[in-house]
Amino acid sequence: MKLLSKKTLKDLNFKNKVALVRVDYNVPILDGVITDNTRISASFKTLRYLIDCGAKIVLFSHLGRVKNAEDLKSKTLLPVFHELKKLLKDVSVSFINETRGSKLENSISAMKSGEIILVENTRFEDFPNKKESKNDPELGKYWASLGDVFVNEAFATSHRSHASNVGIASNINDSCVGFLIEKEIKALGHVLLEPEHPYVAILGGAKVSDKILIIENLLKKADKLIIGGGMAYTFLKAQGYSIGTSLLEEDKISLAKKYLEENSNKIFLPVDFAITKEFTNSKPVYTEDQNIPDGMMGLDCGPKSSEKFKEILSGAKTIVWNGPLGVFEFSNYATGTIKICETIAKMDECYSLIGGGDSASAALNLGFADKFNHISTGGGASLEFLEGKELPGISAIKDK
Ligand code: AMP
Repeated sequence: MKLLSKKTLKDLNFKNKVALVRVDYNVPILDGVITDNTRISASFKTLRYLIDCGAKIVLFSHLGRVKNAEDLKSKTLLPVFHELKKLLKDVSVSFINETRGSKLENSISAMKSGEIILVENTRFEDFPNKKESKNDPELGKYWASLGDVFVNEAFATSHRSHASNVGIASNINDSCVGFLIEKEIKALGHVLLEPEHPYVAILGGAKVSDKILIIENLLKKADKLIIGGGMAYTFLKAQGYSIGTSLLEEDKISLAKKYLEENSNKIFLPVDFAITKEFTNSKPVYTEDQNIPDGMMGLDCGPKSSEKFKEILSGAKTIVWNGPLGVFEFSNYATGTIKICETIAKMDECYSLIGGGDSASAALNLGFADKFNHISTGGGASLEFLEGKELPGISAIKDK
């Protein structure tokens, strides 16, 4: 895969260079207060490295979606600037509340090595025309003209072709990935290109339709595939079980049947369920087997399934997990997801990776952050990587 040959920070010279750095500061903000600054502090390894190398750092990030004039006020990166200043006390950090123009240009011209400028929300360029999100050629060219080199450090948007990643990278002399993306590429690349066997993949989440490409790619790579979460019911229906009012995608039953027929020794489904009448956090009832009575829906797998999954995982050398095994947002239906976390957490001999999104939040919220070899920080980006797609924000970076 070409992704593994991309330039990294160590391949570039940053001394006195203006480094345009695409970071992911799309942090949760409530009433002007940042409620989780993980994404900001996660970029510091790269920023500190660039400072040590003598770079002048210009940071670009998006914050939410910008669709109207009101968003131009409420989605400002100003709170992020205050947080940066607070966390990087020894560094000169300034904020330009514009995405283009002479104020930005003059401030960059006046920068000294080791200083940081944060540019306003790149998606302010999305109103009224989607210049950032549609990778407007002029915008990418303009931003690229502000610097000497480009560093992509925003993995979560790398599956998108935007002006602030692909646009800049395609119009600048040299570029590389930052430490965060380098780590993501190594980890995700490892489980796709050089995994140790036995290799077990676990897929959960809501819908089969969202996971078709990842199912197909992981069926090629893994020795066993556990399918849980809302997706499992379409597979169970395909096998003739009664699934009550559980989540079903009628139009995917025949596809599920095909996967099951072609991979009869490889695909494993839950064998019991935590069921309820309504989609609420009510006290669950457990089924005896794979059948769910009329009028009831499965919101989690049951204890027999957790035991079975433990057996399937036993001895695995590589585990990839994407998608919760139940409605983990409801405490009464998080048990299947907790149990799989606990099982993997105890498997020291194995390389374990969580492919972003809800399974990553589940593992983090449930306190398993340091129990996995890698927890990918991208939702859509991790999914597309595991589907075997090239991510444009990474492809656009220069090769070594
Ligand atoms: P995804 O983004 O596709 O990984 O899906 C994650 C979502 O799937 C979470 O919000 C879960 O609540 C949901 N989910 C997991 N199991 C079920 C289920 N049995 N029924 C409905 N939704 C589910």
